[in-house]
Parts: sequence; C-alpha cells; structure tokens
Amino acid sequence: MVTFDEFNLRREQLRLEVAQLCRTSGRNPGSVEILPVTKTHPPEAAFFAARCGLRAVGENRVQEAVDKRAAAPDATVQWELIGHLQSNKAKIAAATFDRIQSVDSEKLLNLLDRAAGELGKQLPVLLQINAGNDPAKFGADLSAADKLLDVALAKPHLRVDGLMTIAPLSDDPAVAERTFVTLRQLRDDLSARTKAPLATLSMGMSGDYATAIAAGSTLIRIGTRLYGERPPAA
Ligand SMILES: *Cc1c(COP(=O)(O)O)cnc(C)c1O
Repeated sequence: MVTFDEFNLRREQLRLEVAQLCRTSGRNPGSVEILPVTKTHPPEAAFFAARCGLRAVGENRVQEAVDKRAAAPDATVQWELIGHLQSNKAKIAAATFDRIQSVDSEKLLNLLDRAAGELGKQLPVLLQINAGNDPAKFGADLSAADKLLDVALAKPHLRVDGLMTIAPLSDDPAVAERTFVTLRQLRDDLSARTKAPLATLSMGMSGDYATAIAAGSTLIRIGTRLYGERPPAA
C-alpha cells in the first residue's frame, strides 16, 4: 500500500480530475463522490480516508470488514459493502455495515430488513443490477429490477438510496459505456414510476470512472488508483 502522503496526493489529483470530468459533462463538479476501496489493505487504509475527510470506505468481504473495523475503531468513516453478500452473512452484514451496495435478491431484502429491524436501525441499501448482462457478475437481471425495487421500497427497515453496477471486463470501452448508460436509464425509469429519488448511482472503478461519470455516476469506487496495486490473492 502507498504512504499517507502518496494517498493524499493521489486523492487530490483524482478529485481535480473528477471535477473536470463533471464540467465536461455539464455536471456540478461536486456531484461525484469518491469511495476509497480498502479491501485487502490494512486498517490504516481506512484511517487514510478518514484523515482526508472522506465519508466512507468500501469493502467487498464481510469477515474482512468485521476484522478491519474492529482494528480501526477510531477511523471516523462509514463502511459500505460493495461485494457479493451470501444470505447466511446477511445478519452480520446488517450489523457491520453502514450501507450495503450489493443487494440483488428478494431473499436478501427479506433477511436484511429483518436483521435491521432486530438491530433497531434503518439500513441504507443500493440494488445491484447486472446492467451489462455479464454471466460472470452478480447483480439482479435488468428484467427483475422493477419487482426488486417494489419489494425494497416496502421494507420498513431499509432505505433504498439508488442502484449499483459493475461493468463487464472488456477491452472495448463501449461495453462499459453501454452498461453505465443502461443503469442510468433504468434509474430514471424506476424513479419516474415510483417517485423514489434513487439519487445514488454507484458505478465506475479505477479503470472506467471517466466513462461512468459521463453516464451520470454519483459514486465511484476506487481502489488501485488511490492505494496502489492490491497484493495478489492468497
Ligand atoms: C475492488 C472493487 C472496486 C475497486 O477496484 P479498482 O479497480 O481497484 O479501483 C470497485 N468496486 C468493486 C465492487 C470492487 O470489488
């Protein structure tokens, strides 16, 4: 992982670049949040984000986040789950995370709503949609999004902030663009029908955030670009 000074420099460069990308797209320069992705990095990664005043960090595995959060109790950031959630981990996820971006089934909605109710909290969620129709990706099918949202909006202990997607891996930048535009259009359609604002569009990573911002992303999930290369999986 990079040093704090290097992280801070990268964050500032990214912030300026994001602001410029927003202007190019006729958007407010402050309309895209950077979510640092701390997965595989030590707890200090969350402190780096906190020291820069960033709101939250993203983790993709429940147990890793449980351990890291316990090891960094003073890091004043929120923790968001961006990776796939298995139903047997729903309860601990509801207790560990401040928001869950990867909700992609009615079963998860039921389990998370019940767990949040037991915890006496309202849990913010995003619905993960497989907007690129990628067999290798999690996320609800586009055709299931309407029903999933209706179920989610009826849950008393969940708050639906918006939608999330991951673009298929591809050498062709048009694939990511199509995926992001599809998610944006889906959001606009769902929001018009249900009157739920669905203000958050979580799309874009280190390799494709420019495309995502042009398509309307409000939250880019950035790991490598801020913290450096991740250690190879064990
Ligand atoms: C790891 C991860 C990211 C960040 O990836 P980088 O390419 O390192 O920026 C973003 N979103 C999800 C869902 C991830 O798992």
